[in-house]
Amino acid sequence: MPELPEVETVRRGLEQRLAGRVLARVDQRRADLRFPLPRDFAKRLTGRRVVSVGRRAKYLLVNLDDGNVLLAHLGMSGRMVLEKPKGGPQTLGKFHHDRGKRDRHDHIVLTADDGWVVKFNDPRRFGMMDLVPAERLAGHKLIKNLGPEPLDPAFDAQALALRLKGKKTSIKTALLDQRVVVGIGNIYACEALFRAGISPKRLARTVQGARVEKLVAAIKAVLDDAIAAGGSTLRDYVQASGELGYFQHRFQVYDREGKACVSRACRKKVRRLVQGGRSTFYCANCQR
Ligand SMILES: [Zn+2]
Repeated sequence: MPELPEVETVRRGLEQRLAGRVLARVDQRRADLRFPLPRDFAKRLTGRRVVSVGRRAKYLLVNLDDGNVLLAHLGMSGRMVLEKPKGGPQTLGKFHHDRGKRDRHDHIVLTADDGWVVKFNDPRRFGMMDLVPAERLAGHKLIKNLGPEPLDPAFDAQALALRLKGKKTSIKTALLDQRVVVGIGNIYACEALFRAGISPKRLARTVQGARVEKLVAAIKAVLDDAIAAGGSTLRDYVQASGELGYFQHRFQVYDREGKACVSRACRKKVRRLVQGGRSTFYCANCQR
């Protein structure tokens, strides 16, 4: 499942490709994804110019020139695939995407006025798209209850401390709560807690003062690092397959059960435990 850094990488890829372009053609091959698509979806998108592409939590926000926003979520398995114009300039060098082969999971296909194609491919159909007037976006049912953006400067130690105050769950579980902070999935919760030296089992309400300062810094750092890694692979991904947003990271604790802690002073084995049905990876020696 894509997490915030992957979605941010997709956002950057789409913005690069679509900002300023007109959606010359829109093919809608299903009436629904996770939810029904809005009435006249393709018709309402066709001919619109893309002003910019934004993001809120793991939602992509394609801002259109008629004041509507194309709200999109990749779900569990959704991906955006770019295809260069047919017979167009070979600007991206090697490009191996199998053109012409129609994939039955390409549910929505946008063709820009410069010939570039953006396909929304989603085998499991947990993804969604909606068209929302910009002024109503903040009140949209999927958006209105979202907590703060982790990379927003307003998300600081004070803001997180306030949300953790009185919370009786573990800090790991609290970080996955989208009302506490958005976009942190299992991987980055594990990584941020390791970097901050905080045990995933610690009660959320006890993460205050210096601990919460370390944790906020760690959350921002792990996300920034992952986005930077995504950015550096973005061009390669477009060149190789046209698929945006999925990339491999090297994790410090995530999925490293039984392997040595990356801290040279430690070298104890990384442990795994299950919290709220999800695997947590941590070092009991470095995290308190
Ligand atoms: Zn350790």
